[in-house]
Amino acid sequence: MITIAMDGPVGAGKSTIADEVAKRLNILHLDTGAMYRAVGLAVNKAGVDMHDEAAVTALCEAGKAHVDVKYEDGAQKTFVNGEDVTPFIRTQEAGTAASCISRYAAVRRMLVARQREIAATQPMLMDGRDIGTVVLKDAPVKIYLTASAEARAQRRMKQLQEKGENPDFEEILREVNARDYQDMNREVDPLRCAEDAVVVDSSDINFEETVQAILRIVEEKHVG
Ligand code: C5P
Repeated sequence: MITIAMDGPVGAGKSTIADEVAKRLNILHLDTGAMYRAVGLAVNKAGVDMHDEAAVTALCEAGKAHVDVKYEDGAQKTFVNGEDVTPFIRTQEAGTAASCISRYAAVRRMLVARQREIAATQPMLMDGRDIGTVVLKDAPVKIYLTASAEARAQRRMKQLQEKGENPDFEEILREVNARDYQDMNREVDPLRCAEDAVVVDSSDINFEETVQAILRIVEEKHVG
């Protein structure tokens, strides 16, 4: 059974790359960021202040932010308290809440346990920030997908321009750097490259080249 752990900073294209790699390997892809976003939504819906760690902890410990995932035609659907929140997790609101509540030990404990359960039953590619370092420490294949902050900000600019927006590059770059700082410096399970991860830098290669680079690593590690 193949298990692949993929981590990396915001904007490195992890989710879309992971989706494609998993598809080509015919395995499932678990986007763990979606689970943190789902908890963020549950916290807001319950009227709990996301900055109040004790209140968020109490909500989780009472089983009132229960996250589950199901797959439909290979695509992940994310549920919280039985409700399918897949259409709502890509919003700014969910991202901001996820970023805040992902710092809390109780939230991480709950989601890490769930992620391990899911990975124990099927071959899988899991992406996040702490997969190779915490969740699946023994994964035979670990990838750290990164790109320069400038390249990641450029991609974000392009996405926003395609939506008809007129973003400011310097502001986006500041946001990318701020998210990196927050992810890499939080106390619990900060983003780091696992010692045994292979680094893939996508700054100067396109989508297909990145997918191919990862598939080669998987083949080498898995077969070799
Ligand atoms: O990857 P995505 O942007 O969807 O993640 C949402 C938030 O959840 C991020 O702010 C990130 O810090 C957090 N996260 C995490 N651990 C993971 C996945 C995501 O802390 N394994």
